[in-house]
Amino acid sequence: MLRPHLCDCKNISRRATSKMTLSKPSFLIIGAGVFGVSTAYHLIKKHPDALVTLVDRDAFDADNRVAASWDWNKAVRADYDDIVYCKLALEAQDVFKSDPLWMPYFHMTGVYWICRSDYAKDVINNYKKLGRKADISAVPVDKARKMYGGLFDDADYTGVTEVLVNRTSGWAAAGDCLRAVTKKAVELGVRYVTAEVATLQFDDGGHCRGVKTVRGDVLTASHVTLCTGAFTPKLLELSAASSGLTDLRAGSRIVAGGITTEMAQLDEKSYERFASMPVGFQGYTADIGPFIGSLPPTKDKELKWWGQTIFKNTREVLPGRYISMPPPERDYAQWRVSGRLKEDIRHASNVFYGRKGANWKIEKHRICWDAFTTSGDFIISPHSTSKGLYVATCGSFHGYKFFPVLGKYVLQMLEGSLSPELALKWAWDRKRPDPALNPEWPRAEMKDLLDPSSKL
Ligand SMILES: Cc1cc2nc3c(=O)[nH]c(=O)nc-3n(C[C@H](O)[C@H](O)[C@H](O)COP(=O)(O)OP(=O)(O)OC[C@H]3O[C@@H](n4cnc5c(N)ncnc54)[C@H](O)[C@@H]3O)c2cc1C
Repeated sequence: MLRPHLCDCKNISRRATSKMTLSKPSFLIIGAGVFGVSTAYHLIKKHPDALVTLVDRDAFDADNRVAASWDWNKAVRADYDDIVYCKLALEAQDVFKSDPLWMPYFHMTGVYWICRSDYAKDVINNYKKLGRKADISAVPVDKARKMYGGLFDDADYTGVTEVLVNRTSGWAAAGDCLRAVTKKAVELGVRYVTAEVATLQFDDGGHCRGVKTVRGDVLTASHVTLCTGAFTPKLLELSAASSGLTDLRAGSRIVAGGITTEMAQLDEKSYERFASMPVGFQGYTADIGPFIGSLPPTKDKELKWWGQTIFKNTREVLPGRYISMPPPERDYAQWRVSGRLKEDIRHASNVFYGRKGANWKIEKHRICWDAFTTSGDFIISPHSTSKGLYVATCGSFHGYKFFPVLGKYVLQMLEGSLSPELALKWAWDRKRPDPALNPEWPRAEMKDLLDPSSKL
């Protein structure tokens, strides 16, 4: 049950919040990526009378956004060796494949996962355990190389045991889908506010009552949920400093990490060959590095892949306080990609396409920032320091595919009805494993990947 609230959620610019009374439930969701939008959508569908406000520094239809969720395309797969995420991803895929709101954005091209461990077997076993039938198999390398017209014939198969081919997975047109679902949520009654949040606001008892924007406006609600992705540790640091509630800080729970993506402009002939390709993955173990993926071409005939290096950006956020955070520029300087990172990402093209990609025209580079936990689990949890404050983010480089169902679970968390297993897995306070075994953990530092002149 959602409890009634202490104050109405509206812009009460610079007025005291304590005098506000309310009659309806009110929710402030900070951040309009997949976690925030899904939460707003599920909330307004289940509680049409609730006051739901979604706040983001960028307009949802802006041409340029910092959200990790705002992208040309994202892999939508249920190929997980962790059965919890396998099940969750299948639930999300069922929505992508059947609900008219989501269907236009999903493309069931399949995935082609080059495995260097028992990954294929583990995934296939999970499908079996969950009683799900799918066109999924572990294919010997020789046979796999000939599939899809030999598109991945030149790929690197060093140390490869087999290739996981799942024809029921695919990809989503990520930014278009994010925009469409946000628009739908707004039509259903969600209020969208374009503003950058500077700090959280608390009453004298340390109860979170809302946020203050950089412009100085105050927004209030009884439930404040942070879906702020890679910015979350910084927002909590600034809020800890302004409120004196030092335990607000994320500490080692969340680390902001950046990954470079590169887009190749295909000519007509290559486009014809690659248009219906599956999503490609190069799977590695933690001692080698993170998995690398390549997505099928967009409608503009651009083929995308991401790089082999995931990096932190550790900086002094306040005197004596060092955390990893996106660069301070309003757009996270996401289009300013150093020569060293461009060089680094060439490797991704080589391990998928070898000589096929030698003459492709490289058109775009972007650095995408996400929030990571050591285990790769999300955080969907009340914040233990302040009543009324909740956290729902930490996609840990794999959160997009759950977009259709994330909000359902965030709502369960807000209502206190999340299953004990998920509540523990996604808790703010829990025992976190050493990241040594997590191949996706950000290990490099951005300052070491800049060009010499920009280090000055
Ligand atoms: C290169 C790359 C490739 C990926 N590929 C895949 C994939 O193929 N499949 C997959 O499932 N996942 C993928 N992911 C992961 C996925 O994109 C993320 O896990 C997911 O999008 C995170 O969603 P989010 O809502 O937590 O954060 P975001 O999408 O980053 O959204 C956070 C939002 O909060 C807003 N915000 C932050 N601070 C403030 C503030 N102070 N005031 C106002 N607004 C604020 C931001 O503007 C932003 O819009 C990939 C990630 C990257 C980086």
